[in-house]
Amino acid sequence: MNVLHTMPPPREREGLHVSVSQVKSYQICPAKYAHHYVRGTLPTHRAVSLAFGTAVHAALATFYEAQMNGRRLTVEEVQAAFSDRWSVELRDDLPLHFDDGQSADDVRDQGVAMMEVFCRDGFMPDQVLAVELPFRVDLPDPDTGEILDIALVGAIDMVAAHQGRTIVVEHKTAARRFDQTRLTYDFQPSAYLYAARFLNLPADPTAIFQVLLKTKKPAVDVLPVTRNETARMEMLDTFAQVLKGIEAGAFPRNRGWACSDCEFRRVCDR
Ligand code: SF4
Repeated sequence: MNVLHTMPPPREREGLHVSVSQVKSYQICPAKYAHHYVRGTLPTHRAVSLAFGTAVHAALATFYEAQMNGRRLTVEEVQAAFSDRWSVELRDDLPLHFDDGQSADDVRDQGVAMMEVFCRDGFMPDQVLAVELPFRVDLPDPDTGEILDIALVGAIDMVAAHQGRTIVVEHKTAARRFDQTRLTYDFQPSAYLYAARFLNLPADPTAIFQVLLKTKKPAVDVLPVTRNETARMEMLDTFAQVLKGIEAGAFPRNRGWACSDCEFRRVCDR
């Protein structure tokens, strides 16, 4: 199987577009979405979970890129890749918002321990075909089939060949295990498998969530997920409905779990 050529992302981000993370952000809290993507409100801080996830993604990308180039990194090299990126995150102008009693060193140690578990229990495919593969694809209205004037953009964390299958892999960090509802209905795999149709991948890819758990004892869950035509239509309906809300300027607050770490709370509470 040929290694896919990975293009730099900017071209895919030109013109009107929306991503899975933007739609999920709108679903969590439309007001937060508006602060971030519409009004350009200055955030007060960054969530540690986002910075941590970025550092983990960078370390895994380093690991899989090395595999794509024929080299297996050692545990120490993967841990160094995580630590290096964590240091970059700490230098950002926006302060990180740590949980009570938690320090930057605690988080780094958690990530270093997690990288050891990843090297032992993580997904080790037969061949890595692409890392951070960007895409930009048309979105049809699920009712009319008409192409929307906003494209779906994103980047697939990894495409791999394993045991005769092509697999689209999404890395996640999470505080707890994914439940069955998420495994069945999360529209991210549906969206990425839909995008994969246009990326010249070998036919009929499947998907995997690789979840790195931030539990006291770190763990890695490698979770195959399947999606059918019904799931694809539900994903397209979700995009169409959320885009209608955004275009209509419907940005209500959704007070809930996301408020505790919200970088726009000061403005929201006025
Ligand atoms: S504080 Fe809560 S309601 Fe307000 S924008 Fe943030 S998440 Fe939404």
